[in-house]
Order: sequence, then C-alpha cells, then structure tokens
Amino acid sequence: MRFLITGGAGFVGSHLAEELLSQGHKVSVVDDLSTGSIENIEHLKSNPDFKYVIDTVNNVNLSAELVDGADRIFHLAAAVGVKLIVESPVRTIETNIRCTEIILNLAAKKKKPVFVASTSEVYGKSTTFPFREDDDLVMGATTKGRWSYACSKAIDEFLALAYYREKGLPTVVGRLFNTVGPRQTGQYGMVVPTFVQQGLAGKPITVYGDGEQRRCFGHVKDVVRAIAGLLQTDATWGNVYNLGNPEEISILDLARKIRELTGGKSEIVHVSYDQAYEVGFEDMTRRVPGIEKIGAAIGWKPQHDLNKILGDVIAFYRARV
Ligand code: UDP
Repeated sequence: MRFLITGGAGFVGSHLAEELLSQGHKVSVVDDLSTGSIENIEHLKSNPDFKYVIDTVNNVNLSAELVDGADRIFHLAAAVGVKLIVESPVRTIETNIRCTEIILNLAAKKKKPVFVASTSEVYGKSTTFPFREDDDLVMGATTKGRWSYACSKAIDEFLALAYYREKGLPTVVGRLFNTVGPRQTGQYGMVVPTFVQQGLAGKPITVYGDGEQRRCFGHVKDVVRAIAGLLQTDATWGNVYNLGNPEEISILDLARKIRELTGGKSEIVHVSYDQAYEVGFEDMTRRVPGIEKIGAAIGWKPQHDLNKILGDVIAFYRARV
C-alpha cells in the first residue's frame, strides 16, 4: 500500500515511516520541520519506497497531490509539547485545527481512509482511572492556556468522527499517551529526554512541582505498531482508541530511576510550575490509559516496559555525545 504521513519527520512520524517500510509498504512524508527534523528521516532517504516533501499541510495544492498519490493517510502533523503550546497558543490552535480540516476535506473527495492522531490531553482533569475512550472530558478554564491544546485536539476528533458519520469517510482516531523513545528531543519540554540529558551531563534533574504527579510511558515502537494496525483494518472506522502503556510511575521516582541509570551524579531539584510554564499552570496529576478497546480491535498490547524504554533513550543520547 501507499501511505502518506503528515508530520512524518517528527519523532513519532519517523518511527511510523520505518514501521510501514519494514512491512513492505511505500511511504510519503510531508513535514514543515517546525518540530520535526531532517535528521529523523536521514536514514530512510536512500530507500526507494520512501519519499519526502518539506512543506506545510496548509499548502492545499501540494496536500491534494499527496493525498491523491496515497491509498491511506496518517495525519500526525500538529503542534506538540506542553512548553511549545504554552508559549505559542495561536500557532497551536491554528495548526491543529486547520491542518486536520484540510486533510479530511481532501481525503473525503476520494474516500481515502485517515488516521487522526489525538492525545491523552483531551481527558483533561478527569479523575476516573484508567481513562476509557467514551469517558467525559474535563477541561479547565479558557483563561488557562494549556487547555487550548486539549480543546483543539478534541475538535480534531469531532471533525474526524463527523466526516465518518456525515460523509462516509473511513476515519479512526488514536489518543496517544506519553510516548517516548530514541530521537525524541527534550527541546519541547518532554520529561524523559530532558531528565536523561540532564543525568548524562551530571546536571540537576528538574522535577516540576512536588513530583507526585504520575505518568504512563509507552515505547514509540509499540505505539507506531498500534497506529499502523489501526489503519490496516476496516473494523476500526469511526472509532477512538487509547494508545499507551498502563505502567505508571511518579515523576519524582522517574527522576530517581534516571539518575541511577545515568551515573548517579545529578542532584534532583524541584522547580515550581509557575516558573517552569506560566503563572497558574494546571498539571494533570495522573493519566492512565485503558487499552482493552484497542486490544479487542487489533490484538495490540505493549511489548516494552519502562526499563526497556529508558535503556533505549539513554543509549540513544550516549551515542550522540
Ligand atoms: N516534567 C518535569 N520536569 C521537566 C519536564 C516535565 O517534572 O523537566 C513533568 C511535567 O510537569 C509533567 C510530566 O513531567 O508532570 C510529563 O511532562 P511532559 O511534558 O513530558 O508530558 P505531559 O504529560 O505534560 O504532556
């Protein structure tokens, strides 16, 4: 099959390209390199089944051509990272909604199936754990910038489902929980690469707040296997799926673990949320994926635990210094 990946030079997109190529498919990638990087796809350029274009999905003529040339589309292009989102809310809202509109509209003309990447952020402040796909979403006030990301992604989900119901376009939505692995940069605030780089450099490891907030981390290799699987069956159309690993850890314990694994020299310091993000920033205290639905649909479950994930990320950064 010929797959198009928007945001294909990003961290998740580039691993997805690798996964699809390894399954024997042809892959085209479009990416404006706003948060992606050429380095992520450098090793794929010599593969005759791989093509890439550096441009934005907002270039509708180009997107039309790329959608026409594909059998199915993975729409991953979006603003990512809480830090970036807090700093550039206009770009976040506009990119997330406009690009999804463009891709769904173009795909609908020829009924090309589309996977739309969403996020566990949409669950907001919900406290019913684990999160299930049809749970209520609990957003914070519009005066708190963080929630603009969750709302923009929730609109993307509504759009994808509306195209399915109203226009008969096969769509499927995946809510990605914290996804980590080699090639992820700490530049946009993500905690694992940030802690690993701090630990390897013997610098202080910066835990935001008291560190009692908990997260579940999925290996990018597991996550892209799930994404690829969701678009290769018609049993998933019109549905939303959580994609993540339910193994949970507090951020303080994560900092301790990474300090151990990276040489033990770093001090662990606490930084207030106000200082780290913006005044009044609201964090999510827990976020646990219920993964029964995707298990039942495509037989997927994660194969890599947190130790494997951290080992892979540390090896990646060790090789770079
Ligand atoms: N975090 C931290 N120190 C950092 C970066 C992040 O303590 O240097 C915390 C952050 O406040 C959150 C968790 O780690 O509670 C995960 O952050 P990330 O940005 O990776 O993803 P999020 O779950 O917020 O989308």
